[in-house]
Amino acid sequence: MRTVTLLLASVLMVSGCSARPEAPDAQSGENGRADSSAGNLRPAHHKADGTFVNTDGTAISKSFTDLLRWRWTRTEPEALPFPVLKPDPAKLQNPDSPQITWIGHSAFLLQVGGKNILTDPHFTERASPLSFLGPERVVESPLTVEELPHIDAIVISHNHYDHLDEKTIRLLDEKQKHNPPLYFVPLGLKKELNGYDIEEVIEMDWWETHEFSGMQFTALPVKHWSQRNFFDRNKTLWAGWLVDIGEFRFFHTGDSGYSSDFAKIGEDYPGIDLATIPIGAYDPRWFMKDAHMSPEEAAQVFIDLKAEKAIGMHWGTFILTDEEMDEPPVRLRAALKKNNIRVTDFSVMKHGEVLRVIIGQSPEAISDISD
Ligand code: ZN
Ligand code: ZN
Repeated sequence: MRTVTLLLASVLMVSGCSARPEAPDAQSGENGRADSSAGNLRPAHHKADGTFVNTDGTAISKSFTDLLRWRWTRTEPEALPFPVLKPDPAKLQNPDSPQITWIGHSAFLLQVGGKNILTDPHFTERASPLSFLGPERVVESPLTVEELPHIDAIVISHNHYDHLDEKTIRLLDEKQKHNPPLYFVPLGLKKELNGYDIEEVIEMDWWETHEFSGMQFTALPVKHWSQRNFFDRNKTLWAGWLVDIGEFRFFHTGDSGYSSDFAKIGEDYPGIDLATIPIGAYDPRWFMKDAHMSPEEAAQVFIDLKAEKAIGMHWGTFILTDEEMDEPPVRLRAALKKNNIRVTDFSVMKHGEVLRVIIGQSPEAISDISD
């Protein structure tokens, strides 16, 4: 079984991430946005071979030897039974103030101004293309797809199996067959969704904005990579998503290592009211650092983004990496203290918890709608 698991890990890359930056592309433009050095206008993060690189010109590519070294030497952490709150689905209909529900991992239901948005929806048993193998959900989903309110839009950060779950997308499609949500995906992923018979897809490059139903969706650079099979490493883009809904500005980071992208986003897109920032899947650092930030780096990302509030994500749901499942919030709390950030400004939610997020106020757990 171990051999099978290793092979599977190499294909799926579900835990996402090695630390072997390649040399920056000589064709890259200095600001990362344009490449005119070769007399063409290919953006710097688009390589001539059809793959994508990060804004610093590096591609995070996995060495199979490193993967073996990690997988053979690791001790898998213990699965912990986190409590799961069960929101009353009736009370997720038309809330009169902004609220966010943590479904687990990087999946949130954001409800603002009558709009319902999902981030990286994952409601099924495994982050894997196989029903019998691959990272299994340790904590059950607090909601079923059936219990969701009508979804207007969905943002997908990248093609790893813990963020893009075909089964969940097909369930969502079944539920909203006659009034489907609009999917926002980074470049190259429209084809994947079309393969699930999903036609309502907007595919975007970094720094592009698309308006939909009174909302603006902007794809922004983060430091990560992509792979869904043996042959498509970095052939589709990865992104963080900025969503403006009226006065409310939301940023979903997706997966990322720490980088200067966040300070740039904080400068170029000021006034983020709420950000979801990954705090888990970081050990061992020699392997994960380039693609997944630590809780301490997550605290710095919060500072860099100049966000009003943040919520930690990408922890406590699947076992992808080596840190103990309950370690990310503990380390985050210490990092917040060290940086004089209030724990209410960078929250860690319970699975299924619903937070009311009103601009200028501390988030409030809405206890009467969870039990
Ligand atoms: Zn990933
Ligand atoms: Zn991930």
